[in-house]
Amino acid sequence: MKYYNLKDKTEVVDFKTATIQGQGKEKGLFFPEFIPQFDLEFIENLPQYSDEEIAFRCMKDFVGDEIPFDILKEIVSETINFKIPLKKINENIYSLELFHGPTLAFKDIGARFMSRCLSYFLKDENKKVTVLVATSGDTGGAVSHGFYNAENIDVVILYPKNRVSEVQEQQLTAWGENISALEVDGSFDDCQNLVKQAFSDEEIHSALFLTSANSINVARWLPQQIYYLLALKQWQKFEKENPVICVPSGNFGNICAGILTHFRGLPVEHFIAACNENDVVPNYLKTQKMELKETVATLSNAMDVGNPSNFIRVLELFDHHFEDLKNKITGYSIDDEKTLQTIKEVYLKYNYLLEPHSAVAYTAMEQYLKENQGKKGFILGTAHPVKFPDAVEKAVSIKIDLPESLENLMKKEKKSTEIQPDFAELKRFLLNKN
Ligand SMILES: *Cc1c(COP(=O)(O)O)cnc(C)c1O
Repeated sequence: MKYYNLKDKTEVVDFKTATIQGQGKEKGLFFPEFIPQFDLEFIENLPQYSDEEIAFRCMKDFVGDEIPFDILKEIVSETINFKIPLKKINENIYSLELFHGPTLAFKDIGARFMSRCLSYFLKDENKKVTVLVATSGDTGGAVSHGFYNAENIDVVILYPKNRVSEVQEQQLTAWGENISALEVDGSFDDCQNLVKQAFSDEEIHSALFLTSANSINVARWLPQQIYYLLALKQWQKFEKENPVICVPSGNFGNICAGILTHFRGLPVEHFIAACNENDVVPNYLKTQKMELKETVATLSNAMDVGNPSNFIRVLELFDHHFEDLKNKITGYSIDDEKTLQTIKEVYLKYNYLLEPHSAVAYTAMEQYLKENQGKKGFILGTAHPVKFPDAVEKAVSIKIDLPESLENLMKKEKKSTEIQPDFAELKRFLLNKN
């Protein structure tokens, strides 16, 4: 598979280059040259295939012969080596629980796949790579865990001070070794802008080999397709109609991977982009106008994104046809008050505990199903409630116990460096790191 740069279609690279570089010239995102189709027989009979086989078939066309099939099989098996159950909340709404991985977030899947591909590609090259990541909460933890102690890879994580939860912060700052956490006195957008600037800085480039592990990297974005297939495999056992899929969205990498599987032949009735008060995309879907805004801090902080970087890939999938896009995706913006109310209602009514991100999705799904009677579907449960205890406990006043794996992590000392949202400070840090 070849990938072209969305900013300059003459820049075409292979999977390895796209994985190592992260992004193309002018900070452009890479996009696959064609959309490989699934066999109809495969899609209609998903329950007959093992999860590992499904994951392998999902990824192999995107990797091609750049990783031998037996190694790719190992990589995808390790990527999904925890349970991803589709749980029924009520008659019409299910939840795909993507939070049983090592950092209790769906981002584990992309991070695990990417770290393994990158390690494979770097093994034979005498090259040290610095993975530079901006996180609004969960990316950093998943990436730190995925890359901890990986040979020839250093990780530098930027996160917005006071805007991530305690568990999230601990998952960013407890590591040390090859992982550095930078606490930025600003918003997630500030972090993302600093990272983007670093990528286009000549001096940094000549000193370090930088790559990203944000969902702009194809090796993090594409494996997110796998769980849409695993969801359909389970869905087909329960339900006949095609599902409506509701994705809590921030940077739009997750939903974009889902839409990609649909373009490859996965039967999906409709997609819902569920956003918090950061409503750039829901507004766009209503007005066809993209008006970027300052980020608003909300309870669902991993979706506090004012300029969703992956949405350009969604537009590309639809060939920039607004009508087609609008017919397939509906956007909703849900505020914090409604989010808390949903956590409470769903807990009391169905004994199912949501956290703020999945509660945004649940609320959007309910609204859509009210406006479109007779349909059913599932939300993507992107994080474990224990990662957001303040919001959850505010809504339902129960105490959530820490899983054992987190208890040890919470005891570790915090290691971070505070910086201002000032590129000169980041640059100094990166250049003095080695
Ligand atoms: C990152 C994240 C999201 C948003 O995913 P995108 O791919 O950026 O749209 C939603 N929920 C949680 C818990 C997250 O960590």
